[in-house]
Amino acid sequence: MDIQSSLKKLPSVEKVLEDERISRRVTLLSRKGITAIVRESIDRHREALLNGSVDRIGERDIASAIADEVSAELDALSVTGVRRVINATGVVLHTNLGRAVLAAETCAAIAAAASGYVDLEIDLKSGKRTERGLRVARLLSLITGAGGAFVVNNNAAAVLLAVQTLAGAGAVAISRGELVEIGGSFRLPEILALAAARVIEVGTTNRTHRKDYEKAVRDGATLLLKVHTSNYRIVGYTNEVSLVELAEIGREHGVPVMYDQGSGVLYPLRTRGIEGEDSIETVLESGVDLVCFSTDKVLGGPQGGALVGRSDLIARMKENHLSRALRLDKLTLAGLERVLLDYWNGRFDEIPSLRMITESIESVRERAVRIAARLKESCARDIGVAVEESESSIGGGSFPINPLRTAVVQINLASDQAERFSAILRAGSPSVLTRVKGCSVIIDPRTIRTEEEGILIAKLAEGFGIFSGGSD
Ligand SMILES: *Cc1c(COP(=O)(O)O)cnc(C)c1O
Repeated sequence: MDIQSSLKKLPSVEKVLEDERISRRVTLLSRKGITAIVRESIDRHREALLNGSVDRIGERDIASAIADEVSAELDALSVTGVRRVINATGVVLHTNLGRAVLAAETCAAIAAAASGYVDLEIDLKSGKRTERGLRVARLLSLITGAGGAFVVNNNAAAVLLAVQTLAGAGAVAISRGELVEIGGSFRLPEILALAAARVIEVGTTNRTHRKDYEKAVRDGATLLLKVHTSNYRIVGYTNEVSLVELAEIGREHGVPVMYDQGSGVLYPLRTRGIEGEDSIETVLESGVDLVCFSTDKVLGGPQGGALVGRSDLIARMKENHLSRALRLDKLTLAGLERVLLDYWNGRFDEIPSLRMITESIESVRERAVRIAARLKESCARDIGVAVEESESSIGGGSFPINPLRTAVVQINLASDQAERFSAILRAGSPSVLTRVKGCSVIIDPRTIRTEEEGILIAKLAEGFGIFSGGSD
């Protein structure tokens, strides 16, 4: 009846810990944590009683409600690993889904490095200590034609290290049109403020000229930085200083020029009809001193950031103590080396992200037709399925205005049911991520691996079952 008597019915921590579902979870290292979780649950219930969001409750109800809650939380904690997702969105390098997918051979190289000791920092011939990552750096230099290369934890780290090394005691100049925010919380102004003693913003949002950079050099710039604006474009009354021209300015005044290319295009995608992005080799030919990029975007490797360019500048970055804090581990190096070897040996189709990006619309359509047919077969009731033309996106801030033509399976539903159906698919295991367009759920085969098709069909059919059951 009154709150006081209800509060008295709250169980003690000890009492909840006696519940078999909870007591069997208690180990040497989980006892404290489980006790804390129990206390939090009791506190929540006390709070609910005090603020009136719950009425009086019976003694047994409240004790079992708390045990249920704690038990569910412990269950959730014990589910090991990340949840597997089937990416039907057609966004190849989806940062929220972990960007590039690696080939089985790359995964095997990572597993081999993980399960044993490796020659990470030792030359097995001489028995002497060496630097880590030398083979990866050598391959990167050879493939891109750079004088030197260095790899760190990600591209944000590469920018941080380069700017700190070359402008930590000086100033970095950057166009106001390139002070960008890129997905995954990469905000260039913040990184530059951390790394450089001084940031000299040049030009305006839409127009930057040669004379602006030249003034920055007179004002003490020790690094000229150009950044790929990745996920947006400034159009209309605009002007930017080209890489070639910026490299010229740098050479004239003896100031290094760096380009943050971002996506890491090693393969000349133009030759496969994908316009909009030069390869790193071509970028270096423009005369810039340094280029940095992610290794898990278009390059298609594990997470990392590469710096390629003038060997004397690379050497300075290696000497910077910051590089110790940004270094890569043996697993990433093993995986990255494997992917770079695929490039070196011309085995481009072995690199999943590259294969997805370059797959022709005809080939994607074949798969869409097959998925649509299998889906119709496995669903009891008639469903509206069609194969339509659409657009995939490379993602990861790459090729923002150059979507890829694709073919998709379009599942047409009654009005406002598409969001609901896609939520059911998302909550499954494995989860299936789709696009929603009006009344349709869109499945883009471009980012679905052939071996995932069977489980995808099963999940879609199962989803329909829940869906029609729930909506009747
Ligand atoms: C993606 C991107 C970054 C950030 O790279 P991370 O590897 O995610 O740290 C920086 N600059 C550009 C131009 C990018 O496209």
